[in-house]
Formats: sequence, structure tokens, C-alpha cells
Amino acid sequence: MKILSHLPAVHQLKEHQRFSQIVTTLQISENILTEWLNEQIDIVRNKIINNELDHEALNREELIKHIFNQLDKKIHSFSQDNLQGVINATGVILHTNLGRARLSKQAIDQITTTAASYSTLEYNMETGKRGSRHDIVEEYIKQLTGAEAAMVVNNNAAAVYIVLKAIASGGEVIVSRGELVEIGGSFRISEIMEESQADLVDVGTTNKTHISDYEKAITEDTALLMKVHKSNFKIVGFTKEVDTDELVHMSRQHNIPIYEDLGSGTLFNFKKEKIGAEPTVQEKIKAGIDILSFSGDKLLGGPQAGVIVGKKRFVDKLKKHQLARVLRVDKFTLAGLEATLKSYLRGQERYDIPTIHDILASSHSVLEKANTFVEKITSNGTGFICDIDSGQSKVGGGTMPNVEMDTYVVNVKHHLYKSEELAERLRKFNVPIIARVKNEAVILDFRTVSKEELAIVVEAFLHIEHGES
Ligand SMILES: *Cc1c(COP(=O)(O)O)cnc(C)c1O
Repeated sequence: MKILSHLPAVHQLKEHQRFSQIVTTLQISENILTEWLNEQIDIVRNKIINNELDHEALNREELIKHIFNQLDKKIHSFSQDNLQGVINATGVILHTNLGRARLSKQAIDQITTTAASYSTLEYNMETGKRGSRHDIVEEYIKQLTGAEAAMVVNNNAAAVYIVLKAIASGGEVIVSRGELVEIGGSFRISEIMEESQADLVDVGTTNKTHISDYEKAITEDTALLMKVHKSNFKIVGFTKEVDTDELVHMSRQHNIPIYEDLGSGTLFNFKKEKIGAEPTVQEKIKAGIDILSFSGDKLLGGPQAGVIVGKKRFVDKLKKHQLARVLRVDKFTLAGLEATLKSYLRGQERYDIPTIHDILASSHSVLEKANTFVEKITSNGTGFICDIDSGQSKVGGGTMPNVEMDTYVVNVKHHLYKSEELAERLRKFNVPIIARVKNEAVILDFRTVSKEELAIVVEAFLHIEHGES
């Protein structure tokens, strides 16, 4: 334990020339640096106590060197942002771990402007008096969906919560057992129901629910009929699900409101493009659903949000509820959403909105990018071995789970690096590149890589080839 006496005190380290070097070259406050030094001293002290340090590191000079080296690492990781932009070369369009939808140029511009200046968030330009943030996108959503009213909350989970709380708290909510889904490992219909103090009445079985099952469950305490999009799974085989039309009919007969959690929700009719069978929000409204909610950053291709549409008398009730303030969206969300919705109103969604654009992209356009990439990284006799294969891209984000889009993937190997190592080097490039690894190759699907990003991906591979990464 004599070694512990070699451990420098923080004030001694602060007099060291390496400390003054750091202070003068980097813009990190001295307080923070002192705290980090203290942290490192503690770590080294524990290492000494637990016999975890090499013997040669046990004199004073070596300990000081060790502490400063650790401090350098800390400073290096501080220089990278924790939330940073990456290139998604997985081909999964709504990659939940990579932030789901990326936004249109128009949305980015409007967010940037809103961030840099004061805005009309709650200001009525006509009267010069206080306005409502609800008014910013409501008309657009009404026009696009045909609904009487609309409002926006933080995300679709929040939408489910406020609807249940405001409309069904203290009453019973009838849901098919086959629709009691869990989304993203943390959001369960049954649990959000409990939070909202509505009583869940589950009817039918996992694979089959009939209209009579709903009918039998109706009591005078029934506050709401609820239908939930199965989103991330599909039951095959002997199944029976009651469709929206039948449920709407029954809800009218019994004068009980009906709410559908549409999950992703789409304004774009993918069925017309022969992609999946996702119903549009417009179709659901036409069918007479009273309240409908869906995500802003799934198939809509906008910022994280929960969009609620439906009959005015219900939406008004939601707007007046205390939770509306708790779950409200900020100006950036509204800016991004307004621009996204305008692309739909102009009929430009397939060009403007990356999510729609990438889902519709032909396998041929992906192949073109793949060819360009392979040519550029192999043309001067590099160590990369590439082959292009046909494959399937997925929409992701728990959306259209059974839809696969034809694509082309590039399998890349390097004679010096194992595939895991290559993938790691790509992740550590100054613009991190995320790719899949399978069968000893790194797999790139350029469906989710823009032309500008493709140039960066090429640069990263050449960087790795030259051993610079
Ligand atoms: C994705 C999803 C949600 C949650 O939506 P977020 O916008 O992620 O909060 C809720 N319900 C269903 C059916 C979903 O698919």
C-alpha cells in the first residue's frame, strides 16, 4: 500500500505542463478538467488497491503519465457527440435504433429557421395576440385525412395514453385479445390501459375474434371500443379479425365511441404501388372511426409525434384535458411536421420525403449505387473483394413486417480484416457508417444511402484501405 503514497494529488497534476497544454489548446472549462482528473485519480487508486496495475506503472512518473493518458481518452470521447449523424447502410428504412424517419429538406429548413429565430408558435398574426400551437398543423391534417379535427402530441404512445385517459378513464375498454400488442419492448396496450385507469376487457382469442365477442362484452360501463394495429407481427393460419366497418357499425348501434391505434399510419397509398396492404388514414376516417392515432416518424416520414384525428367533439375533449399540456410538442416538431404535411398537400411526398422515396426506390436504382461503389473501391487494386447480390430491404420500425422490397446488396470482404473489424472501422469513421455483418462479409444496402452519402461511404472504405482509420 506504500504505492498509494506515489499517487499524485489533483493540485500537483494541475501544475503539470500537460495540464496547461490541455487548458490552452482545448476549450474545456478548468472545473470540468479538474473533476475528470479527480475521477481518474480515484480509478487509479482503486486499481492499485485491487492490484490491477502493471508493476512498472507504480512509480510516480508512470502514474502521472497513466492518469494523463486516461484523461486524453476522456477528452477524445468528449469531442465526439453522443447523438451524432450516421449513414444507414442497412437498407432498413425506419431503423428504430437509428432514429426512424429522416426528414425532408423542407422540414430541415423549417426546423433550422424556427430554431434560429423567434416564431409564431403561439402568436396570432392577424390579431397580434396570443394564438394556439394546435392551429399550426390542424387544417393541413384535416384536409389530408378528411377528419373533422386533429391534434398532435409527443408520440403515438402519448396519443394512446391521452385518448384512453380522457375518453375512457373509469370505464371499460373492449379490445380483441389478438391485438394486445407490445411495441418496442416497452409499450404494452394492457399496461398503458392500466396507467390510464381504464379497465381492459379483452375479448376473443389470440387468433380469432368475432363481432359477437365484442357484442357480448358490452355493458353499461363500456366507455370505448378500441382497435389496435398489430404492427410488428402477423398471425397466420386460422385467423379471424373484426374489420373496422363492422366495429363502426356496432359502435353506432350501441352509441359507444370507437378508437383505432393505427400504429404507423400512412397518408400515402402504398397499396397502389403494390407494396403491402397498409390502410391509409383517409380510408379509416371514411369508414367512420371516431378517433384515430398514428406516429409522425414512421410511414408519415416526419418528426417524432403522435397525430390524433377524428370527430371534433372528441378531439376538443382531448385538447382541453390537462394531459394535453403534459404531452404537447415543441416548436421544432411542429416546424418539421408542417413542412412534411405540405409536401403531401403539394403531391410531392414521393420526391421530398426520404421515407416514401426510399420505400418506392426501384431495385435498379439501388443497383446503380452499388455498381458505382464497387467500381470506386476496387478500381486501383485494393484489398477489397466485393460481390453484388440480389436481396430484400425491410421498412422497419415495426411497420409492414411482412413486406420485403427487392434490392441489391454489396458483400464486402477485405483480405486484411475480419468482417467484424471492418464493420467496426466503418462505425468509427468520422461520419459513422452502420452496416450489417453476415457470413464473414460486411453487407451494404444502398437503398437508405443518398447519392451524397455514397461518396462518404466510398471515402471511408478508401481510408480503411490506406490504413488511416
Ligand atoms: C409504433 C406504435 C406505437 C407507438 O408509437 P410511437 O410513436 O413510437 O410512440 C403505438 N401503437 C402501435 C400499434 C404502434 O405500431
